[in-house]
Order: sequence, then C-alpha cells, then structure tokens
Amino acid sequence: MVAEGRDVVSFGAGEPDFPTPEHIVEAAARAAADPANHHYTANVGLPALRSAIRDYTRSYSGVDIEESQILVTNGAKQAIFQTFAALLDPGDEALLPAPHWVTYPSGIELAGGRAVSVTTRMEEGFKVDVDALERHRTERTKLLVFVSPSNPTGAVYTAEEARAIGEWARDNGVWVVTDEIYQRLVYDEDEAAPSIAAVTEGLDDVVMINGVAKSFAMTGWRVGWMIGPPDIVGAAARHQSHATGNVNNVAQMAAVEAIMGPQETVLAMREAFDKRRQKIVSMLTGAPGVDCAEPAGAFYVFPSVRGLLNDSYPTAEALAEGLLEEAGIAVVPGASFGAPGFIRLSYALSDADLERGVARMLDMFGRL
Ligand code: PMP
Repeated sequence: MVAEGRDVVSFGAGEPDFPTPEHIVEAAARAAADPANHHYTANVGLPALRSAIRDYTRSYSGVDIEESQILVTNGAKQAIFQTFAALLDPGDEALLPAPHWVTYPSGIELAGGRAVSVTTRMEEGFKVDVDALERHRTERTKLLVFVSPSNPTGAVYTAEEARAIGEWARDNGVWVVTDEIYQRLVYDEDEAAPSIAAVTEGLDDVVMINGVAKSFAMTGWRVGWMIGPPDIVGAAARHQSHATGNVNNVAQMAAVEAIMGPQETVLAMREAFDKRRQKIVSMLTGAPGVDCAEPAGAFYVFPSVRGLLNDSYPTAEALAEGLLEEAGIAVVPGASFGAPGFIRLSYALSDADLERGVARMLDMFGRL
C-alpha cells in the first residue's frame, strides 16, 4: 500500500524506529576495515564479545556466569530455536504463557515438542502464576518459556512473582527458558527487569536468551546469545556450527561496543519510548469499546477490542484488516499471539505518526 502511494501509519513494527547509535556504527566501520574480521572465527563467538556478555549479564541480569556458558547467535531468534532443539525430545511439552510472541510455538514445534498454552488475563496484568502453571504440568512437561518484559503485552514480573515461578520450576524439574531481550526497556524499574535466573536460588536448569536488537536499536545487525549449562550450550553450538557457523564478525564487534561502550543512548531511547507509552495509553483509555492496560515494559500496548466487534467486523483480525483498508492503520491482530479479541500496537514510531495514527484509528472506531 505504501508503494502504491497510500498513507499508512504502521503500529506493526517489532523494532525501535531509531537508527543504531553512532558510536556503535563507527566501531563497526573500524571493524570492517580490519582484516582480522574478514575470516571465519570460533563458532561460539568472538572472545571479546563473550567476555563483554559475561560482564553485561552480571550488570543487568545479576547472574555470574562463565564465558564457556555463552553461545553468540544470529539474533535471539537463533538462540531460541537452538535452545528448543537442544532441550526438547519429540512429544515433550513446553509451557507457554499466552499472549506470547509468535516465534515460540513455531520453534517448539520445529524441535518436535508440543506448545501448551497457559492463558493469562488482562485483569491479572497478563501474568501467569504457579497455580495456572501447575494445572498444565504433566510428566511430559520439559520447559517453561518465561518472558519479562513480554512481547506482545509489555507485562513485567516483579522479583517476587518471578521467584515464585522459578522455585516452582526448580522443584518440579521444569527447565526455564527466560527471554530477557527487553530487560532494559522498563518504565517502573531502575535499570532492568528482575531476572528469574537471579532471583531464584539454585535454579540450574535455566537458559537465558538476550541480544542487542531492542535495547540498542540493532535489529538488523543480528547479534544475540544464549547462556546455559555447558551440555545444552554445547549441543546448541554443534547445531549452529553446521547450520550457520560464526555470527558476522563486524556485527559482533559492533555488539562489543554496544554493551561495553557509553550507555546514554539506551536511556535516551527508553525515555522516548516511555513518553510515547504514556501518550498512547492516555489516547486509548476511555475510547468506547477499547480496553487498554498500561504496559510496564517493551514498546507495545495490547488493548482488547472485543467491545468493538460487530457483524461487519466479527473478529480482531477482521477489524485489523478494516483498519488497514479503511483508515490506513497497520496493527497486528492478537490471534497470532494466542489472544483473539486483542490487537498489538507497537509505539516504536515517531511522536507525530503516533498521534495522527491513533487519532485516525479512534475516528474509525467511533464510526463503527
Ligand atoms: N524475543 C522477543 C520477545 C522478541 O520480541 C524478539 C523480536 N521480535 C526477539 C526475541 C528476536 O530478537 P532478535 O532480533 O535478536 O532475533
């Protein structure tokens, strides 16, 4: 539609709209000019990056790890896929609190596992608790996917909530796969969302997923990582060695600069997201038929639009389709996140687009 010259405001993007900070781009340019970065290197990642990740994990997740526990991957996505492939045997069940990001069920299925959805409610902040998890646990339950802050809801678990879930997993022999990619995009915490790996004593069966994509506006550079026990990381590394080999060295050098260099830009982006979050929530709150909770992290709002559904738009998918066709507004319907009746709006877009896009959307809603 954009190519046809239509004015479309997209709330669809799962990535920051900012360019990668300049000092990171400059480090990459220097790295590209250095022949040392023109060749294959260790499959598991550059030593400088693994050492930086160890320090970074201590600072923001509060966990002490060895470099040998780190595998640098082609984005967090590859880490997630390889973690499922390493942990799941055919028929194993993975508990997946819903709404959830779309990649988890596919990764679980590709690894031969079965995704078991554990539905959460907006009224409970889209957070799962031990009772709900226990109701879905069977002898085939191998792992729990734990994501805080969450995509698509922006929910952030407190240290107490995370600890209760971590202890339940530990005591029941359930692995925890914790995706911490949005850990620094939090608006009610100082620096980072509490890590379930840090707050749960003796949680050994845990794999931490992270990367530079969201905090440093580096989605296109494709650098992520997984951290876990040596046998799981070793299995994932063997898989990676045959699938892709080492991650692009220039991008790895950029990631070293991102996580070791000045951190002001992360805070500046967080501040900008926070302002947009407040703006979008205030615009959506009180709109007839829309029910929107205030998210505490990431850059998404996930309102219910059930109050707007009618004969013309019987589902949130139909409404999203209508929004695109009638109003030139792109949103993602909730069904793909396991939450029919909801839509996801990313507020990683310019302030001006955010305001005019939401106004246009509410205008259409008002005419339903
Ligand atoms: N985890 C979550 C929760 C995400 O939302 C995303 C991106 N949409 C990723 C991981 C993927 O990160 P990467 O770009 O590093 O593969």
